[in-house]
Amino acid sequence: MSGGEDLSKLFPIITDEKSGAMLWRDLRAITLQYMIPVGRLKRFYEGIAKGVLYGTQCPKCGARYFPPRPECSHCGSSDVEWVKISREGRLLAHAVVNIKPESYQQYEDYIIGVAEMDDGFKVLAWIKCDNPKRLKRGMRVRLEIDKMRGSGIPFYQLTPTEG
Ligand SMILES: [Zn+2]
Repeated sequence: MSGGEDLSKLFPIITDEKSGAMLWRDLRAITLQYMIPVGRLKRFYEGIAKGVLYGTQCPKCGARYFPPRPECSHCGSSDVEWVKISREGRLLAHAVVNIKPESYQQYEDYIIGVAEMDDGFKVLAWIKCDNPKRLKRGMRVRLEIDKMRGSGIPFYQLTPTEG
């Protein structure tokens, strides 16, 4: 470089250690767009739009999935049976999330829980509850369909029905 002037003092220019190439270094936040194929789960989305929740059951080994899966991760079968899942069940465990992932920063602290529905389906979902102290393992819960604040996208959540 002629003159030997240190351009990195004036510009965000660095020199690549391996190649010696001058590089303009810029940092920008990027937005990622996720495209996830859901064609084989169409029944699930049609159901939730009509207020019905479907899980899948493997016809070969009987494994049950909620949310539904187009393949059985237990035996590898790609046959599925759609099953309307029970909306009533019992809370198995819960946790208040106050350290949130980056994409959930806009939400208040929230509660997630695992419930076993009366037909044996296990469901991981947000719990709608103002006071987490009243949540107890084994308490009755109901799986409800609501709409996300802002986006209006339908989703499911657990609500205590006792206590
Ligand atoms: Zn299976």
